[in-house]
Amino acid sequence: MIESVLPILQCPKCSSKLRKEQGYIVCIQCGAKYSIIDERIIDFLGGDQGWVGLFERFPRLYDPWSRIGWRLSGRGSLDRFYEELTENLSEGILVDAGCGTGSLLSLLERKQYRGSLIGIDISLPMLKTASRKTKEAVFLRASIDRIPIANDTIDHYVSSLVIHIFRDKAKVISEISRILRKGGNVRVAVATTDSIKGRIFSRLLAVHAIRTSDYISLFKAHGIEILRTNDFGTFKAFYGLLSY
Ligand SMILES: [Zn+2]
Repeated sequence: MIESVLPILQCPKCSSKLRKEQGYIVCIQCGAKYSIIDERIIDFLGGDQGWVGLFERFPRLYDPWSRIGWRLSGRGSLDRFYEELTENLSEGILVDAGCGTGSLLSLLERKQYRGSLIGIDISLPMLKTASRKTKEAVFLRASIDRIPIANDTIDHYVSSLVIHIFRDKAKVISEISRILRKGGNVRVAVATTDSIKGRIFSRLLAVHAIRTSDYISLFKAHGIEILRTNDFGTFKAFYGLLSY
């Protein structure tokens, strides 16, 4: 499975191609070695722990918490939201940026997705949970503002309720436009500060949500044309494509 996505991966240090060795992925240029964990996870962060929060210690709490968080801040059912984010996606190379415990990827597998599924997250415990939840998906332990995937290679970029966490959204969005092929799909759901509730949510959880119009300008500045949006309470889903 890792072999199937290896041709589109690149070394996060020097952007060169990678090859597989026993238990490792190795950069052909700088020699950097990245561990393979549980057959389907490549650890590009190594000793760098990223955030170690409650959910890293108890990843099983994450899914129930998502449902509670959704009831407080979202609108409609969480399942309906996941259904919409994955609607009519059936083939090609798909990245779920900030995949957490793999809810979207396992839904895509249940819907008989035929292409390659790649989940990216910084949390190893989350990725281990996600790999148990899925059968075919490959996981990269990496930050979504520095994705170890080559330029112009993926068909679909999906991200659910993650990008608002980043202060430097331009960096995250420039990565979307770098790795997507021209015409590739963008489906991003984020918290916005359009409503009072959204501003309170952003303040309470110390996330860096911004207004819908600011997200749209950022996407546009990176060649991503937003075709439609859909409101889910304080969250908003953006649907677009890379126009150049
Ligand atoms: Zn390298």
